[in-house]
Amino acid sequence: MTLPNAPVLRVEALRVAYDHPLGLVRAVDEVSFSLRPHERFGLAGESGSGKSTMALAILRMIKPPGHIDGGEVWLEEIALSQLTPEAIRRLRLAGIAMVPQGSMNSLNPVVRIRDQIGDAIADHGTRLSRQDLIARVRSLLSQVGLPADTADKYPHELSGGMKQRACIAIAICLRPKVIIADEPTSALDVVVQRQVMETLGNVQAELGAAVILVGHDMGLMAQFVDRLGIMYAGRLVEVAPIRDIITAPRHPYTRLLIDSLPSLERRGTLRGIPGLAPLLRALPPGCAFHPRCPRAEERCTSDKPAVRPIGPDATVACHFA
Ligand code: SF4
Repeated sequence: MTLPNAPVLRVEALRVAYDHPLGLVRAVDEVSFSLRPHERFGLAGESGSGKSTMALAILRMIKPPGHIDGGEVWLEEIALSQLTPEAIRRLRLAGIAMVPQGSMNSLNPVVRIRDQIGDAIADHGTRLSRQDLIARVRSLLSQVGLPADTADKYPHELSGGMKQRACIAIAICLRPKVIIADEPTSALDVVVQRQVMETLGNVQAELGAAVILVGHDMGLMAQFVDRLGIMYAGRLVEVAPIRDIITAPRHPYTRLLIDSLPSLERRGTLRGIPGLAPLLRALPPGCAFHPRCPRAEERCTSDKPAVRPIGPDATVACHFA
């Protein structure tokens, strides 16, 4: 039986690798975290840090030449690695739903919004009469703040923000327990971005679902999530409640990410992170961050730091944090 505050999702030592002519490329390296019901968890990092791969791996959507080569994902008591491909397909949307990157463009241009939502519902085995389907679609559109006549429209008749809301309506049509939103607002302007995030927050509260927000916008993370995980070179190098991570980051990479945010005190000066993220197929030995780290010492060039707990909801992977 699931306890009231037991994690709804547990990711345990998950590993993803890609076959490459030069050898195996490790895109996700023993990543572990858990998510409570109603929690908003952020996964942040630079491009290529493994955060989107991680999101796909949770749903077992990694395609060849990639493969999951270790670890487990639990949705409550269900171990996802034990499910058949058909059971996994049904669990997507019904248990864990994804609002993928660029999802606005994933809407079928020649199918009305009503039918796209109806197809998602029917595809998961729920048969509704036409009347019930219309009522269900209306209710979903209203949940995401769209007028009822959106149901009759084609995607090209909607603005970017409306399309993204329609994608959220599809994602929640089977009342999932976990919603993974991968850069859901990356193509939108700041005002619409804020409205879409409010919509996501509202539907999450109504459903009592947990959310994983994947992205690189630390400002957005600071406004939306309860807890933040920072990924670097396929590893989760720091996890902490958002307030702690913003005010007192423990990992040097997190500190540089926070320092790169524009601030009123440092008006006119923008700080970047020195160097480039390493290629996953040619990671430096020891701590993968050592060539860019202002605190690196001799030991960092040879010893890979273990992930260790530093608080009830916090972990860090740095020898000196
Ligand atoms: Fe920097 Fe060393 Fe910590 Fe890595 S282990 S983040 S190189 S101080």
